[in-house]
Amino acid sequence: MLERDLAPPSGDADEAFRNWNRRGVGHLRQSHAFLARLGKLIRADHPALREALLETGVRELGFESMLWPTQKATYVPKPVDAEFAILTSRRTTLELVMRRYVETLPNVTIRSGAMVRRLLTEKDPSGVLKVVGVLVDEGDGEARELRAPVVIDAGGKNSSGIEQLIEEGAPIADESETAGILYFTRHYRLQPGRTEPQREGNPPFGGDLGYLKFGVFPGDNNCFSITMCAPEIEYEIRKAIVRPEMWDRMIDNLPGLKVWCAADQAEPTSRVFGMGDLHSRWRDLVVDETPTVLGFFAVGDCLVRTNPLYGRGCSLAAVQAYMVRDALAETSDPAARLLAYHSRVRRELRPYYEAMRSQDRNAIKRAEQALTPGYKRTLREKVLRSFAEDGITPAIRFDVDLLRESMRGFHMLEHPNAWFRRPRNFAKILRYWARGKKRNAAAYPPKAGPKRESMMRALELSPEADIAILAERRAAERRGGTKIAA
Ligand SMILES: Cc1cc2nc3c(=O)[nH]c(=O)nc-3n(C[C@H](O)[C@H](O)[C@H](O)COP(=O)(O)OP(=O)(O)OC[C@H]3O[C@@H](n4cnc5c(N)ncnc54)[C@H](O)[C@@H]3O)c2cc1C
Repeated sequence: MLERDLAPPSGDADEAFRNWNRRGVGHLRQSHAFLARLGKLIRADHPALREALLETGVRELGFESMLWPTQKATYVPKPVDAEFAILTSRRTTLELVMRRYVETLPNVTIRSGAMVRRLLTEKDPSGVLKVVGVLVDEGDGEARELRAPVVIDAGGKNSSGIEQLIEEGAPIADESETAGILYFTRHYRLQPGRTEPQREGNPPFGGDLGYLKFGVFPGDNNCFSITMCAPEIEYEIRKAIVRPEMWDRMIDNLPGLKVWCAADQAEPTSRVFGMGDLHSRWRDLVVDETPTVLGFFAVGDCLVRTNPLYGRGCSLAAVQAYMVRDALAETSDPAARLLAYHSRVRRELRPYYEAMRSQDRNAIKRAEQALTPGYKRTLREKVLRSFAEDGITPAIRFDVDLLRESMRGFHMLEHPNAWFRRPRNFAKILRYWARGKKRNAAAYPPKAGPKRESMMRALELSPEADIAILAERRAAERRGGTKIAA
């Protein structure tokens, strides 16, 4: 494994958080959690890794922690519930433990400080581009060729491998579009003697206010992080939120976060880390059933990238790694390997990608509607929203079995919409929708925070500025006939 960054410091999780410099991973200090799909792979194939993660303080949040208050009193655990655990902690801790575990595996060598500059390519006799190795720079001022029969690019979102292949003529399919949001995270540590607030009796710890989404990520060693996400078109909030005093004022206005972050409860251990340029991206190295390149595989963000909100990136990357492993084991024919890999990726992972992208597109539309004075929802929009808010949401908040079913898609344990398409589940949702808001009242969460205008006023920001910017952009689009990115 060639890794551009230096090895982690030799100390514990706190030292890694403070001192591990990872220029190769810009999102190293953003909140992370592993869904059950990845948790299951770790549990089944790497029990020693799981043990080491838990020993170091990584948290495993079980199904019970996801129950709604309406479900807690009558909840009877079932064996399947063990499947729905989430692993969460500071990403530096997850990386530290995983890296040390990988170092113990036979036949694996990690070369740290080894920056891959380029792929080495040739044309095979049929004219198809073939990757035969990499040009690697190990910091001594001299780049060396390293030849290999198979190169796997796991270089993340900024890897330039696929761009190089496209430049050299490989007809790789490449689609990308904005996820429409920005991510902001700040880390905290509980004050000595304090424990994490309980969900019962407290305002919601997470929520979606339209102009802002927020949540708490419990972490290792008495740490936790708060993440807030703003739509791209909320420029005022985007600019303000990275300033610690504005961050604190926002928290003061979000009761569920205030109980975590009050001065006697916790202290910040970091600045506010912002992250933009969030995109969905899908690339296919097989086009019209023909490999566009040989000797080369891509896994993780350089192949498929999704909005971090869904927390699926690491699971997607891990599932792809397993698929590469299986394709390599099945055949030694370079073309057949790539075909086998990509048909699996497409069959199994594309449905998640499409579901997330369509949710992103809807969220972008809703964020724009919120900044459109006097916007009136169409009948279709009203019905769909009511179905989601007054049908699906109450149904999964009352019915534990339905929550279990929906978790299977959420955690990537089956097709994302399979649970919803089962007639039994759909009928339950319709029943809750039909019985009306009054009877469903206990399933609606208390208010998670103020409306946009009140929050903007509390922060002394102009609620009108972004409305005017959007109106100008729309006018420019009408004049130019094309859509302008936020
Ligand atoms: C804000 C944010 C929050 C997220 N939250 C979650 C979450 O909660 N759960 C989840 O599952 N996913 C989450 N994700 C997504 C997840 O982080 C990524 O999908 C995942 O890290 C992708 O793994 P990767 O191996 O492809 O790339 P990375 O994890 O980015 O790793 C790439 C590696 O390649 C190295 N590298 C890069 N270029 C070179 C080079 N030229 N030579 C040598 N080495 C190189 C880098 O140093 C790095 O070690 C989040 C993403 C973001 C941006």
